[in-house]
Amino acid sequence: MKRPFVVANWKMNGTEEQARALLDALLPLLPGGSEGPEIALAPPFTSLRTVGERLRPTRIALAAQNLHPATHGAFTGEISGPMLVAVGARYVIVGHSERRRLFGEGDELVARKAAAAAAAGLVPILCVGEEESERIGGRTLEVIARQVSAGIGRLPAPGGGSLVVAYEPVWAIGTGRTATPAQVSEAHEWVREALSRSAGAATASEIRILYGGSVTAESAPSVLGAPGVDGALVGGASLVAESFARIVSSVPA
Ligand code: PEP
Repeated sequence: MKRPFVVANWKMNGTEEQARALLDALLPLLPGGSEGPEIALAPPFTSLRTVGERLRPTRIALAAQNLHPATHGAFTGEISGPMLVAVGARYVIVGHSERRRLFGEGDELVARKAAAAAAAGLVPILCVGEEESERIGGRTLEVIARQVSAGIGRLPAPGGGSLVVAYEPVWAIGTGRTATPAQVSEAHEWVREALSRSAGAATASEIRILYGGSVTAESAPSVLGAPGVDGALVGGASLVAESFARIVSSVPA
């Protein structure tokens, strides 16, 4: 039985002091035990250590938003997998559509990042999803299949616990337009089929597939209750303690 998973992507928001204030508001609202979904928080790099220290006595995991594929070297401004492990991160987001669109990251680089994450002992959260024009053009399945198979193409042996996939339709991210539960379930089925082709059906069935794209406290119950959804990757709503806590509490038991 897969444990549902809810990840907060704080993106480029908040100083360390603001991260502390958000944690002060958020931590008392989140379930503390082993019941309920697994939770991870992905703050900006500058708050990783502070947030990691606050999370250490809890069961909430620390996640990073990005990494460089190399372990070290002359890559000014970059952060490597081993550096993230050293501050206590367990997960790292790769292939987020903002990185693909705004920073020109293609499938090959995303695959190298996923492999570097795994090599460092991190679990990559591989984001995939179609642009609106691709959905309108009937290419959603093709885009998802390509991004999944390329993204995991360099992983030694993706297993249930060593990979998470987030289906995030680009048109739904930060727009207030949540995909319908039917669209989400259909896309998750396609993600799982693509995983099956690369990793085998048994492994694919163990990999958690999250939905991301304007999930709010209001939309969470229907999206998280849709067949094939194992949790959520939450951007904007994760910056408001009460909203994120309500999303976490909407995950079906
Ligand atoms: C995201 O950035 O992964 C995301 C899903 O953002 P939002 O919830 O704001 O759409």
